Amino acid sequence: MNKNVLITGASRGIGLDAAKVFAEHGCNLALCCHNSIDELKLLCAKLSNQYNISASAFCADVSDSKQSLQLIDNATRALGSIDILINNAGISIVGLICDLSDEDWMKIVNTNLSSVFYCSRSVLPQMIRRKSGKIINVSSVFGIYGASCEAAYSATKGGVNALTRSMAKELAISNIQVNAAAFGAIDTSMNDNLSDEEKKSLSAEIPADRFATSMEAGEFLYHIASSPSYMNGQIIQFDGGWI
Ligand code: NAD
Repeated sequence: MNKNVLITGASRGIGLDAAKVFAEHGCNLALCCHNSIDELKLLCAKLSNQYNISASAFCADVSDSKQSLQLIDNATRALGSIDILINNAGISIVGLICDLSDEDWMKIVNTNLSSVFYCSRSVLPQMIRRKSGKIINVSSVFGIYGASCEAAYSATKGGVNALTRSMAKELAISNIQVNAAAFGAIDTSMNDNLSDEEKKSLSAEIPADRFATSMEAGEFLYHIASSPSYMNGQIIQFDGGWI
């Protein structure tokens, strides 16, 4: 698949491994990180050498409207065009709803939900002009079913799911597909707050009896990206049969 792909939150975890999978399949990449530009530049150099692709690194806080617009402009200049946008950047905040501050609420809403709006709004004009494009949003099963002590996180992912379905309906006429991957438990630093014991008991709740690796999650994002254009507006669970 010879496409130009922008991935947000690509410095580690699911975004990093998705970058490797898309590179392996011959895609040109624009990768965005929040703070780790040196590491991301090294990754880009490695991937472009190994797979003979173009890969560029950008720093942006996607919770900010202006920086998101700038990111899309810079990535478009580097790649020529963006065929696929993967809205992957996200944070989690674990705690009781009564303890959540206004600042934390705004931070998680802006990082997980507004970022999807900002980046999608900025990339859409070029996709609409070309009558072609795909947006893949990285969501969570918690956005469908909710989770105790992750109410704000679940609310943002529920918002991402509704935004996904709505954009899909609005943009289908322009041959743009918008889908979301609703991940279950993926073994990344987002789950570093869990002790080994807690990870073990969570794994026992999952029929697959384990967390997925971030590489499996990256491969799943590639499957969505390479699926036929008739797949649109879907929130697709990837959770080992958990929920
Ligand atoms: P991670 O913490 O390893 O990676 C998150 C990435 O997002 C990092 O690269 C981080 O720098 C970036 N990021 C955070 N805030 C940002 C900002 N304001 N601007 C730009 N980049 C920012 O975690 P992960 O598990 O790889 O998470 C990736 C996505 O997967 C997230 O949207 C997360 O909600 C989702 N997800 C993860 C799990 C899981 O179990 N790990 C489950 C369901 C969904």
